[in-house]
Amino acid sequence: MNNNVSHEDEKIKFEDIIQTDVPLAQYTTMKIGGKAKYFCAPGRYEEFIVAINYAKENNLKINLLGLGSNLLISDKPIDGLTIRTSKLCRYSIRGNIFSCRAGMSLDRAINITQNDGMLGLEGLNGIPGSIGGAIYGNAGAYGYTISDRLLYVDYITFDGKSHRMDRNGEDFGYRDSPFKHMEKVMIFEAGFFLDKNKYSTFAKQVKDNNTKNRITKGLLTYPSAGSIFKNPKDEIAGKLIEACGLKNYSVGDAIICDTHANYIMNKNKATSDDVYKLSQICKEKVMQKFNIELEYEVQLLGDFS
Ligand SMILES: Cc1cc2nc3c(=O)[nH]c(=O)nc-3n(C[C@H](O)[C@H](O)[C@H](O)COP(=O)(O)OP(=O)(O)OC[C@H]3O[C@@H](n4cnc5c(N)ncnc54)[C@H](O)[C@@H]3O)c2cc1C
Repeated sequence: MNNNVSHEDEKIKFEDIIQTDVPLAQYTTMKIGGKAKYFCAPGRYEEFIVAINYAKENNLKINLLGLGSNLLISDKPIDGLTIRTSKLCRYSIRGNIFSCRAGMSLDRAINITQNDGMLGLEGLNGIPGSIGGAIYGNAGAYGYTISDRLLYVDYITFDGKSHRMDRNGEDFGYRDSPFKHMEKVMIFEAGFFLDKNKYSTFAKQVKDNNTKNRITKGLLTYPSAGSIFKNPKDEIAGKLIEACGLKNYSVGDAIICDTHANYIMNKNKATSDDVYKLSQICKEKVMQKFNIELEYEVQLLGDFS
């Protein structure tokens, strides 16, 4: 008899799913970051619950990691339990509703819905994040945001309770969602209301153009975390940084992109400290020249002191 097959109803032991001292750089698009003291990548709900119970029992704070495309993770050890969502990818399609777990990448969600003739997510093509990370930051591009077609979000509070939030337009703003204003929660699943049988040549063009634009603008030349700062009201962060003469300016191997000054890129072996220092220089110069405070769009994880 084969003893290595695990059954859905088998008791999950935390020692089977929780690892220690796991390097996080590999899980970020910037390829930067220290080691997580405790780490887990649950593949199903039950594993996630075991992980959060472990954190509670051991008084560990929980850090959530999607696809690491909007994160600057400190070089120092990362306290607490870091939970990576990328294995939580189940989905279903019922009528016009596409539902999926938070770890699915946006590109995969777009491909699945496109193959089913559904329209509505294609504007997000090329944003290298997960559904959960995108909802958390209300990701968007070229006039589309993830909240446009959102119907509901199921989320879990760290006492293990599940909740449903029906979409309310008012709750989402520019790179802002209700989840940013809550005590930390895990976005677990989301439902989107899409147009059925509407996928068209135009939608395909929208999708392809997004990717082409990013390549032409040189945004994929080196690893990055996308835009470092939010655009201040009526301003464009990249233009302000550029006006301070900072294009191509570098600290260590972290460099300000010469085609889009709101991107800091990792030319080779940049550290998180390099990126952070460079971002602080941008903040200071823009404040001095324009009296405008730049606000981080990337989320900082860990100790930057
Ligand atoms: C080349 C490039 C281009 C980009 N272009 C764009 C763009 O055009 N528009 C745009 O908006 N963004 C862009 N981004 C930024 C990024 O891809 C998006 O913000 C993306 O939605 C982040 O998703 P993620 O899964 O990578 O999140 P992560 O970076 O892993 O996490 C970001 C934040 O979300 C939280 N989080 C992640 N998953 C969950 C969850 N399940 N529940 C609760 N909280 C969670 C994390 O704790 C963290 O605070 C770009 C990035 C790169 C590298």
